[in-house]
Amino acid sequence: MKLEKNKKQAVVVFSGGQDSTTCLFWAKKRYDEVIALSFDYGQRHKKELECAKAICDEAGVEQHVLSVPLLNELAPNSLTRNDIKVDTEPAVDAPPNSLVEGRNMLFLTYAAIFAKVRGISDIITGVSQSDFSGYPDCRDVFIKSLNVTLNLAMNFQFDIITPLMWLDKADTWALSDELGVFELVKEKTLTCYNGVMGDGCGDCPSCKLRKAGLIEYENRKNTQGE
Ligand code: ZN
Repeated sequence: MKLEKNKKQAVVVFSGGQDSTTCLFWAKKRYDEVIALSFDYGQRHKKELECAKAICDEAGVEQHVLSVPLLNELAPNSLTRNDIKVDTEPAVDAPPNSLVEGRNMLFLTYAAIFAKVRGISDIITGVSQSDFSGYPDCRDVFIKSLNVTLNLAMNFQFDIITPLMWLDKADTWALSDELGVFELVKEKTLTCYNGVMGDGCGDCPSCKLRKAGLIEYENRKNTQGE
């Protein structure tokens, strides 16, 4: 199936946040055709999907949105439920309540089915072990394990590619700058757990991580410039 095509194609799992947006533009540089795959899993902040669409429009990338309402039914969490407040401090012994159990496994599995139907083997995701944040399905060992499982499940040579796996947030800012989309990522992505675009609410763990990374990146740049 793949041999019939000469075009290099990839599917990017795309939320419209800092990481997946950086991956989208990373992929655009390397592939002839990139398809963004977004998921509607009952996020409290519909704005996330609106942001994702706007970024795809600007990037000239085709976007598909898959609806997976079951996830919210199965695993209540602070990203989908209005009655669960997002932790402001990272949890010590337990995963944060923004963890959506099994989310990356399901999203990547759906992405694989979506990709195989189109004869595409390369699936790109913005997970990072460096910014682990207590999410077990962001770890490299999990991605490698799932890759093997998907290959066996569908008898297809998928390649799950994780450009950010070993990058911290400052490195990710640096990468977006290299790709020429630093401003776009800064202004138009939505990473905040409270649904505030760009720099966000400033209080949730996601905003804190993003901001600390930005400050570190700017410091590094200034030091290099001296
Ligand atoms: Zn926030």
